[in-house]
Amino acid sequence: MTLPVLADLDNVDGARVLARLDLNVPVHDGVILDDTRIVAALPTLRWLTERAEVVAACSHLGKAKGTPDPAYSLAPVAAALEKALGRSVRFVPDCLDLVDDAGPGSLLLMENLRFHPGEKANDSDFAARLAEPYDHYVNDAFGTAHRAHASVEAAARIYSQGRKAAGFLMEREVTALDRIVDDPEQPFVAVVGGAKVSTKTAPLEALVGRVSSLLVGGGMANTFSLAQGLEVGRSLVEEEMVETARSVLAAAAKRGIEFVLPVDVVIADAIENPRRVDVVASDAIPADMMVVDIGPEARARYREVLSSSRTIFWNGPMGVFEVADYAAGTLAVAEALAESPAFTVVGGGESVMAVRQAGVIGDIDHVSTGGGASLQFITGEGMPAITALES
Ligand code: ADP
Ligand code: MG
Repeated sequence: MTLPVLADLDNVDGARVLARLDLNVPVHDGVILDDTRIVAALPTLRWLTERAEVVAACSHLGKAKGTPDPAYSLAPVAAALEKALGRSVRFVPDCLDLVDDAGPGSLLLMENLRFHPGEKANDSDFAARLAEPYDHYVNDAFGTAHRAHASVEAAARIYSQGRKAAGFLMEREVTALDRIVDDPEQPFVAVVGGAKVSTKTAPLEALVGRVSSLLVGGGMANTFSLAQGLEVGRSLVEEEMVETARSVLAAAAKRGIEFVLPVDVVIADAIENPRRVDVVASDAIPADMMVVDIGPEARARYREVLSSSRTIFWNGPMGVFEVADYAAGTLAVAEALAESPAFTVVGGGESVMAVRQAGVIGDIDHVSTGGGASLQFITGEGMPAITALES
């Protein structure tokens, strides 16, 4: 089954549509700190409001715990949507409220789905009550597609084909990520970094089976170094993941793929206000120092591998890039992707920040809006929300 898209919806003109969006923006004291997700939801909302009779948009926001919490209200988002769309948005203070007086052309925004415990519990009664007033269902919340929650899983199952579809954002994500999962053009190179092996074990295992080269950096490289018998001083490590790292290395060796760890590293005696910062070979890390970035030789090597690839997936910074002195490795990878003629995909919260920081976001083919979701997608094991739309 392929993903149903907006054009596949039957009789959307004049219909009542439930639209699950990702409007989970950071809000502080009623002020939206970053409206990226709101902007990303607009194309689907515009398409729907031009056609449907009533559009009811819903989303979760923040870490609401199954009960109303004003700190996580979507009310500020309703105001932002009004401004962005230049039209009125009716805010509905409970997502299960029945709105039977909404006239043609109404756009509703329902309050936070997670004010009800049924949302995270994927409760079928909650989903049925949420969906009941609506003929059609659209899911554009890619960032939540890896979670089996009621509004994205149980609700989607209520609708038959022709009455449910992915929105534009979801479609774009799935199309781009499919090119990584499904027969990627070779050489396919993955760059994986970030803090820990434990948060990325399944994607690492999946990538080893698909890439021609795997470049590893960031804190997780330390655990791979341990697995190879090297010492990493006071660096961030996960002792309990050394065995996993070893099995990933063994799988790479068995498939004959190139597994590249940094040959040299930037080390410091502290992350903040260090007294000593140095560059050493990866097998010469002093016991009192910690790895904070990949070194200049590693940078050059990674750039070389990336320059001859046809498909690139990048997740996870190469170092503590939030500190300017430790950002060179991460920025070098961002630039290498930007310059590459390959099909390039970046996923992951911090990785996307790094691409933005490097000023090259416009030169990446696909920048995923969902960190955890993109990682789950590339394991190839399916996603609850997508399976429910396709079934
Ligand atoms: P993403 O959100 O892109 O998936 P992660 O959340 O896995 O990335 O990891 C990002 C974090 O990893 C960054 O905040 C960065 O500071 C940290 N990090 C990278 N390299 C190191 C390192 N060598 N030591 C400690 N932390 C690191
Ligand atoms: Mg992160």
